[in-house]
Amino acid sequence: MKLACIGTGGYFPNDRRHTAGYFFPEIGVLFDAGTSAYRVLEMRQTDEIDIFLSHAHLDHIVGLTYLLVPIHNRKLTARLHARAEDILAIKLHLMANAIFPVDIAFEYCEWSGSVDLGPRGKVTSTELKHPGGSLGYRVDWKDKSFAYITDTSSLDTYVDFVRGVDLLLHESYFRDGDEEIAEMTGHSCTSQVTKIAKAAKVKRLGLIHIDPFKIEDDPVGLDVARQVFPETFIPEDKQIIEF
Ligand SMILES: [Zn+2]
Ligand SMILES: [Zn+2]
Repeated sequence: MKLACIGTGGYFPNDRRHTAGYFFPEIGVLFDAGTSAYRVLEMRQTDEIDIFLSHAHLDHIVGLTYLLVPIHNRKLTARLHARAEDILAIKLHLMANAIFPVDIAFEYCEWSGSVDLGPRGKVTSTELKHPGGSLGYRVDWKDKSFAYITDTSSLDTYVDFVRGVDLLLHESYFRDGDEEIAEMTGHSCTSQVTKIAKAAKVKRLGLIHIDPFKIEDDPVGLDVARQVFPETFIPEDKQIIEF
């Protein structure tokens, strides 16, 4: 399975990282549609894609509008899976006439907890703690698995949900020492995340949703992270991960 990390940053894009987007080009499955979503247009290998939204904060949805042209020209069908309240917010606000005056023909699919995409995987979710809530996702294929946990305070409530996955992508917006502001804003610090990866016995951990004010090579404290969970890395934009 090939995963393209098209947008690994949080909040707003910088020259190194666009905002949230994790795309499986071979099977047309995309998690979140931040400013990175334009990269889907050149990378996609299918005429149908399924988009799964963690939540409707702007850094995760603004790129939906970038998909207009191929959908309008009937070159692309896009099913948009999201919580009912997030679909409503997108229709009312992102697609408001004063903001984006063209209706994009998404197939809106209200999320009910799981969807079976056949050979393209079974997608399940867990609820996460974040202002307004957010969804963490897991995909299981025949012999591989993947979990995407973003925009959340780290909690042991979802350890079982991510248990044993081949790849866990988990947000790590803050470095250790910023636990108070992390809790206040519904985000995670590095060691909180590595402890979850260790407890869940995942195979690899990618730290994502990086603070955009930190453009250095190691924005999260990788040495500290690897002391707890050695198989930790920080994906870069456009990195392809095979597992
Ligand atoms: Zn975010
Ligand atoms: Zn958020």
